[in-house]
Amino acid sequence: MLTQASAATAPFDALDRLSPAGLNRWWARRLRAVLKAAAEKLPFYRERFAAAGFDLARFRTLDDLHALAVCTKADLLAAQRKAGSHKIGIECEVESTRAHVTLSLSSGTSGTTFITHTGAWRRMQGRSSCRAHWWAGLRPGTPLIMSAPAWHSYAAIQPFIAQHFGMPCVVVSGTYLPRFADRVVDAILNFRPRFVTMFLPMVFSILATARRQGLRGDRLFAGVETLVVTGAPITPGMRRHLQELTRVARVTEIAGSSENLLAVQCVHAEGLHLVPDTCHAEIIDRETGRPAADHERGAVVHSAVIASGSLYLRYDGGDVGVIDRAPCPCGLPSPRIKLLGRGEDCFTLGPHTLLPYDVQLALEQAVPELSGATFAIAREDLAQARLGVLIVEPEHAAASLLEGARAGLARRFGVPVEITAVRDLPLLFKGVPPVLSRAEAVA
Ligand SMILES: [Zn+2]
Repeated sequence: MLTQASAATAPFDALDRLSPAGLNRWWARRLRAVLKAAAEKLPFYRERFAAAGFDLARFRTLDDLHALAVCTKADLLAAQRKAGSHKIGIECEVESTRAHVTLSLSSGTSGTTFITHTGAWRRMQGRSSCRAHWWAGLRPGTPLIMSAPAWHSYAAIQPFIAQHFGMPCVVVSGTYLPRFADRVVDAILNFRPRFVTMFLPMVFSILATARRQGLRGDRLFAGVETLVVTGAPITPGMRRHLQELTRVARVTEIAGSSENLLAVQCVHAEGLHLVPDTCHAEIIDRETGRPAADHERGAVVHSAVIASGSLYLRYDGGDVGVIDRAPCPCGLPSPRIKLLGRGEDCFTLGPHTLLPYDVQLALEQAVPELSGATFAIAREDLAQARLGVLIVEPEHAAASLLEGARAGLARRFGVPVEITAVRDLPLLFKGVPPVLSRAEAVA
């Protein structure tokens, strides 16, 4: 039997055996074919290529991608308004297949866009998702419980995982359904999975429900070897916290976007390897458009490397992240990225532009006992260049912990800090909103 570390580094297929330079060449070849299809068949890109003077004949390496303008959700929404339709000329090989579906991506308040899948798209994305789970340690025959996000294009491709690995599998349809956490607890107890993929806030709902039933996290998760969390960036302290609560040996993270992006944390737990099958990604400085240096924060911009379904080329979906191109000890060739949050969740505090992730990290570094604590940032305080943290006080927490957190955050950010213990925070459909009004917390 393979040990956990060697199992995680075992290649899924020949693609995993490429060198980083070899993978870049593979990506460049794929992108060239996709750009050619876009130039020939897709009006949206034909117009953009012409406007930018983008010449496909000059496309040789990934660096040549920078000649292509970044595309945002606002660009897609403008194209929808102009076309008066969800079909905006980014849909590739859709006419030739009847087996296509169009889904709406109605996330947030910035408007609804659409994504069209073809059968080929689903097969290729399905294989990509299988690779992601293989990297996370899933092996044939491992009983699996996974949540399939109904609002996410991954709902269409998760069945490929059960098919590919030939395992007994329970799929929870929906990602964040705290009201139904008791059913998931039942499923875990009756089915006894060895691998669980779950939306992070839902893990806490499941643990809280089990606790109300008198069941500790380690009993609930007994026999689970890998817990994959998705939907929110986890800090090192959050990973340790989940390991302490569940006693699962490997807690890892998968991140992605409906449009294409997929990345998985390897055993070395330093960033998430890009899953290369369908997507290439870069991090750029949103102001200058220049590529960000390794570990420098910027916009996550991704490009499809498969010419099927809705094509997103140099698409800035609003995520903020960092990239690390240094070789990884696990041997996988793709660069590692870490999504840190959404651009719209960035806030200004004194001289800093921060994300809730930064506050979480600073909090756990100041007081490790507060790792994984639920908190939100008070909107009113930000307006006065102060940091107000509303924290759901962990049970039996001493007052000295909160004072330690206050002092640590004040040192870290150089602004006045107030920490307020609250009984509860409001839950929205994706968990606790990161920045809210003090009036919204339950004292
Ligand atoms: Zn690695």
